[in-house]
Amino acid sequence: PLKVIVVPHSHSDPGWQKTIDRYFEDQTRHTLNNMVEKLVKFPKMTFIWAESVFLSLWWRDLDPGTQSTVRMLIQRGQLEIVVGSWVVPDEANPHYFALVDQMIEGHEWLRSAGLAVKPRNVWSLDPFGYSSTLPFLYQQAGYDNMVILRVHEKVKAELQNRKSFEFNWRQHWDHHNRASIFTQMMPYRLYNIKHSCGPDTSICLEFDFRKIAGESSESRASKITDENVDAKSRLLLSQYIAKNSLYKHNVVLIPIGDDFRFDRNIEWDQQYDNYQKLFDHINSQPEWNVHARFGTIQTYFNEVKASMQHMNSSTDQFFPSLSGDFFPYTDELQEYWTGYFTTRPYDKMLSRELEVNLRSAEILTSLARGIAKKAGGRSGLLDASERLTEARRDLALFQHHDGITGTEKSWVVTDYEQRLIHGLKTVAEISKEAVTYLLAKSEDTKRDTIRMSANKSWRLLSDEQAEPISVSKSDGVSVILFNSLGRQKEELVQLSINTDSVIVTDDQGRPVTSQINPVWTSDSQISSRQFELVFLARLNPVSLHTFQIKAVKQGLGSHLSFIHTLNHPPKSNKHHTRFQVRPATEKELSLENDALRATFSASTGFLQSVTTKHIGKTTRTAVDFRMYKSRNSGAYLFGPAGPAGDSEMDHSPLVRTIHGPLVSEIHVLQTLVNHTVRIYNTTGHLGSGLEITNIVDMRTQDQRELIMHFDTSIENTDGTFYTDQNGLQSIQRRHFKGVPTEANYYPFTAYGYLQDSSTRLTLAAAQPLGISSQDIGRLEVMLDRRLRYDDRRGLGEGVLDNRRTPSRFFLLVERSNRRSMRRKSSSSPLLSYPSLSVHLLVEDLRHYALQMLSEGNAAHKQNFSGFARSLPCGFHLVNLRSVLHSNGSDATLLLHRYAQTCVYGAAPCSLPSEASLSLASLFNNLRLTSASKASLSLMYDQQELKEDDGFSISMSAMDLHAYRLK
Ligand SMILES: [Zn+2]
Repeated sequence: PLKVIVVPHSHSDPGWQKTIDRYFEDQTRHTLNNMVEKLVKFPKMTFIWAESVFLSLWWRDLDPGTQSTVRMLIQRGQLEIVVGSWVVPDEANPHYFALVDQMIEGHEWLRSAGLAVKPRNVWSLDPFGYSSTLPFLYQQAGYDNMVILRVHEKVKAELQNRKSFEFNWRQHWDHHNRASIFTQMMPYRLYNIKHSCGPDTSICLEFDFRKIAGESSESRASKITDENVDAKSRLLLSQYIAKNSLYKHNVVLIPIGDDFRFDRNIEWDQQYDNYQKLFDHINSQPEWNVHARFGTIQTYFNEVKASMQHMNSSTDQFFPSLSGDFFPYTDELQEYWTGYFTTRPYDKMLSRELEVNLRSAEILTSLARGIAKKAGGRSGLLDASERLTEARRDLALFQHHDGITGTEKSWVVTDYEQRLIHGLKTVAEISKEAVTYLLAKSEDTKRDTIRMSANKSWRLLSDEQAEPISVSKSDGVSVILFNSLGRQKEELVQLSINTDSVIVTDDQGRPVTSQINPVWTSDSQISSRQFELVFLARLNPVSLHTFQIKAVKQGLGSHLSFIHTLNHPPKSNKHHTRFQVRPATEKELSLENDALRATFSASTGFLQSVTTKHIGKTTRTAVDFRMYKSRNSGAYLFGPAGPAGDSEMDHSPLVRTIHGPLVSEIHVLQTLVNHTVRIYNTTGHLGSGLEITNIVDMRTQDQRELIMHFDTSIENTDGTFYTDQNGLQSIQRRHFKGVPTEANYYPFTAYGYLQDSSTRLTLAAAQPLGISSQDIGRLEVMLDRRLRYDDRRGLGEGVLDNRRTPSRFFLLVERSNRRSMRRKSSSSPLLSYPSLSVHLLVEDLRHYALQMLSEGNAAHKQNFSGFARSLPCGFHLVNLRSVLHSNGSDATLLLHRYAQTCVYGAAPCSLPSEASLSLASLFNNLRLTSASKASLSLMYDQQELKEDDGFSISMSAMDLHAYRLK
């Protein structure tokens, strides 16, 4: 028989038109309360729930009796938790760190609430396109099946032709097909009843039985009676049969629900009574050969798998495999949802800041608690648990598909921002406490000598100029740096200080090179009381190091940088005389270190070319800024009126160059963008690229979208370029001619590149934005958008709350290294990876060293090493997450192993396909007593590691593993 599984659901956004708290009070709380009452009353009815964040808000106020009823409903299979991560995340903008973290947070909450549920199915119907990183993460976490919906109309048409709405979603790089996950794509446009029962929306509207007095509704349903039940059953069945014909088996999934449904008690009765009457009638007609009932997503997939068994097959064998992703998304042709890759870039950046600072706080807390436990003492850090949980949830919530996307109302943005800033303040406090503990000479050391210092990234985000650090000759100031990476790191530390003559010494008392740069109080005036100190710090893996800064006699100590200007009025600098300011000649309009030379335009100051010095090869890399005029752009949609132009840009902006022994840079001051390009004078990978920082202010604009544009000599004649997906993997993109500009836009969260046979140009990024290549050799990144109008997707407003917004990048030009290129016959042309240098630059952009200051230098130890050694080359320490409520371990170690190309780039590349590591020898002051491998979100224990071989693990390229440590 045809098996019809009807699944009642309510799509509940934790923030969109209202804040999460308002939605909870007004709707979600009632939906959940009604759910308990009605599922008990109607044992045949079912319900599914996706977001743990709403469950956690609700659970706090539930009496123990209701809590056990909920457990019972889950056990009976009447209620299914689908996804169960903190939110149903956006798939375009988040980094995989935050995606995994919010999944762990949701699953740990389910466990701590005693729900004893391990979600097996993903229900992700609303994100605006789908990344191929998510199926990998879900599969690694132990899920069996996924349901998705919002996919480009033409892709749906193609899958319909091939009868392939169900497929095994595999990864390009997964040659042994170990990481694929069974997926259903819903065939129609939306997840409401109108678009779910079958192809005819007007018929489906006859089967939405919600009727609330005074509420306007599209529904055309009338009550099912003995008189109409036969006719109505036949009508509904015609839709079920039509929908089932799209699938390869006799089971069909029919969701009934919409946004914030089942919040009214009466809707439960209306839907249940009418549907049950229809089911009873349908099921009592043997000649129809149909069985219809309420069920969950699990019911549906169980039936599908049973029908496979019936055919002596399995989903792996029976269904096709598909790889790749589903971007960009369009629901009406010519309207592309590619604007949200950039919308509200300030908040996207803020989310990244919380992410990296949360990670530092997690690692420091895990180490401090480990050491306190070993010493048998109390660290005082146990009370960090609640605060750390809050910060995790501040980050997790924002990964919601109307959070980081920027597609929420302006007052909801403010609510999210407050939470992100709360998270940032909280983790700063926690990190400070952990560092104070780790550097304490004894238990009774005076506390609170250490304070956090705003690092460069954070200073860029806050509008006000930070007060300079006061450095005197007698005492000096200690700067404590925390390197959170599992490898040695060179960092160019930048601090704002009040004097121009200092010496800097490291934790062994050795002087280190330093440089003093000017701080500008206006476009052309240099401050005489504030200076930027830059010094080179070499930091061990997962370690703290203290550096001393002391004032010295003028002319001694730090190198003063040289300043040259272009397009400046003469004699503009009157206030500070120690810096020599001269007009720039061609020589000063270049930046150079041992590896490369970059040249800049003598009129605009913008980058022109990059030369790789050791082979003498030059690549054109011309940068400029352009604007799209918006036609139908909104928070979701990008719809420009034509190509981007530069007519609104200054053609002879103020330009200044700064040259010094450690860093040299060029500033271009446009009205809308302050653009800085910087080169580092170091030998490592930091010196292999150019750092680009933009500060964009769109507040004077109307209906405009601003891009940074690169015109290069790369000959990607087939129109292909590459982007990352959630920072985890690369994917090939192709510029399609004959479709509009906006259809060629993609998400860009960590890196994107263009290449030809001799050269690859990579742009690495610290924040998510939209990226495109609109022509051969071209690359563009959208930086901000200011839009007056709503784009008719339910939000009801434009985007006018722009802020001064920073964005940071590294530009890297790499030459092909053909000698190391070995042909691999099995490798797909779609398979592409960044070089190891790019991976390391992305790490440096994200995980800058945490900066702290201390006045009483003698009060604490000068350094601390958490790791005894670096991780093997190509391994990344994703997190050392504190376990706050003991589940038999103390911390969770998350490790990723990069996959990288050897075709481009200078880095030697002889990494084994499988590399091993002894966890026992990794930590410096801690002894592991047990370690085990777990599924990605810790739902399942997979393998106990053996102590007698040092808790040894091994990882292959692209692996992402979780280990419980004790
Ligand atoms: Zn939604």
